Amino acid sequence: MLPEQMAAVGVPECGVCHEEYQSRGDKAPLTLTACGHSVCSQCARELIRHHPHGRRAARCPTCRVDTTEDAVRPTYLARECVATLQALAMGSSVLSTIKTWALWLVGWLVLTLVWVSTPLVAVVVFVSVWVRDLLLATFTDLMGIRVPPIRLPAGTSLSPSQYVALINMFYGDIKLESIYRSSRDGSTYGNLLDRVGDKLLLVFIIRKGRYVFGAFISGGLELPENPTDCNEYDCDVWWFSLAGHFWRPTKIDIPQQKQRVIRWRERRGLPAVRSCLQAIDSSDVPAGYWGKWTGYGDACLGGRDGFVADEVEVLAVQ
Ligand SMILES: [Zn+2]
Ligand SMILES: [Zn+2]
Repeated sequence: MLPEQMAAVGVPECGVCHEEYQSRGDKAPLTLTACGHSVCSQCARELIRHHPHGRRAARCPTCRVDTTEDAVRPTYLARECVATLQALAMGSSVLSTIKTWALWLVGWLVLTLVWVSTPLVAVVVFVSVWVRDLLLATFTDLMGIRVPPIRLPAGTSLSPSQYVALINMFYGDIKLESIYRSSRDGSTYGNLLDRVGDKLLLVFIIRKGRYVFGAFISGGLELPENPTDCNEYDCDVWWFSLAGHFWRPTKIDIPQQKQRVIRWRERRGLPAVRSCLQAIDSSDVPAGYWGKWTGYGDACLGGRDGFVADEVEVLAVQ
């Protein structure tokens, strides 16, 4: 028998008062030696006091044999057995309490884990991508010779991994040249046009907080006469995200009829080139997008549809 099973059987009880025996005190077992039955000390005294014929003897409640007072004796073996059974019962109740608590704790932990794991995974992925970028950038900057040939365009704001991701979106062997950066060249249209000139294949990089995204256009820049107007002309356009919207850099293809060149927003006091209006119809957004949406249900890669970018860079495809 296992200790737990023994404890489940329980401590034997006095046949008169039906209370469990104790190893000492009023409830310690005494043996009526004339017949061999046991009762607790308290009940033994009562039996003697209330003997039907007033004798100083206990009449056994089980078999009705008299045992004289001085023959009512403690049985030490019985006391030891009771003590052992009590200890077992105590241990098993402590054990079952611990088991119950452990079960609750495990259940609670599992629930908590499920509850926090989703954002946790997001944080872990975000941090690991950031660390990877940082390591790559560090290795490229400090020990460029050890990293196989990622030749970043001079002066670009792109990290090596962002640059590689961008190149891969072209499915081909292209080279990019950084020709304009708002932080370096100024944020007016004039600054932009001076730098871009008549180059046709352009990649715009827009940085806003943790968001890095942009667009490719194949038709060069044809600005409207009036900077507050829109100017629409035929060319290939697709968007891409490099950070902040998907688990990985993602190309966002737009159907021909919805293609728009980035539209600059002129507003007094705002840097012209960095003032952006940008939104993508939800039906054109690839699965897995976790960036922001506008009130109209469009994806806004800059966190809002209208925003002032931290940095705008233009690269020319060579
Ligand atoms: Zn009793
Ligand atoms: Zn008896």
